[in-house]
Amino acid sequence: MKKKLIAGNWKMNGNLTANAKLLGDILAGLSQPACDVAVGVPAVYLAQCQSVLAGTAIDLASQDVSSHEAGAYTGEISAGMLKDFGVRYAIVGHSERRQYHGETDELVAIKAQRALASGITPIVCVGETLAEREAGKTDEVVKRQLAAVIHTNGHCISEIVVAYEPVWAIGTGKTASPEQAQQVHAVLRAQLHAATEHSARIKLLYGGSMNAANAAALLVQPDIDGGLIGGAALKAQDFLTIIAACA
Ligand code: PEP
Repeated sequence: MKKKLIAGNWKMNGNLTANAKLLGDILAGLSQPACDVAVGVPAVYLAQCQSVLAGTAIDLASQDVSSHEAGAYTGEISAGMLKDFGVRYAIVGHSERRQYHGETDELVAIKAQRALASGITPIVCVGETLAEREAGKTDEVVKRQLAAVIHTNGHCISEIVVAYEPVWAIGTGKTASPEQAQQVHAVLRAQLHAATEHSARIKLLYGGSMNAANAAALLVQPDIDGGLIGGAALKAQDFLTIIAACA
């Protein structure tokens, strides 16, 4: 059976002192996790977190990656630079980047391609807004978002991780029910199956107010292979409880 993945997304939170404490507390409570574990930290703290996490069971993730390889792109961080700091995963297409930074499906697909080219696993986020769900467009939206990534990345698609994150559930305390999440995951799984014979190895994460109380019910669903965790990843005990729910 494939290992589940629990990835934290710290977003724009933390500082040197708080990061050291959070990682220290997580590491102290983590003994041989049954799943893969990663933390997505702000880029300026990659060096700090790389040094704290060296030789531990926790991998490092970035929260974004440039769609460009190198050059005159002020403020951007390339996949090669992330690789220099031991980054194993790059979150791409998070709804906050789609919403506040105008990221399109095509841009997200290129970001995934840049990550893959540097040996970094992209965690590609897809998800519908509340208006889209209420209009019955959930499947159409997530399939369109994923189709762009499949189109650009061809057979490399088997190397990605997909995170289904309904926008209405992110940071709102409203979680998709396990049945709602499983339903969309099954749609995504079928789409990946049609695109690659290796679809079974692709991890599909759920994200959107996953927490210590609801993680187990979500993680037991047949097509949910882990979680992308925002708020609860900033609390060591909650993050550890979610990791333990994978066992
Ligand atoms: C996220 O930011 O990816 C996320 C899922 O956030 P939260 O868990 O806080 O809803």
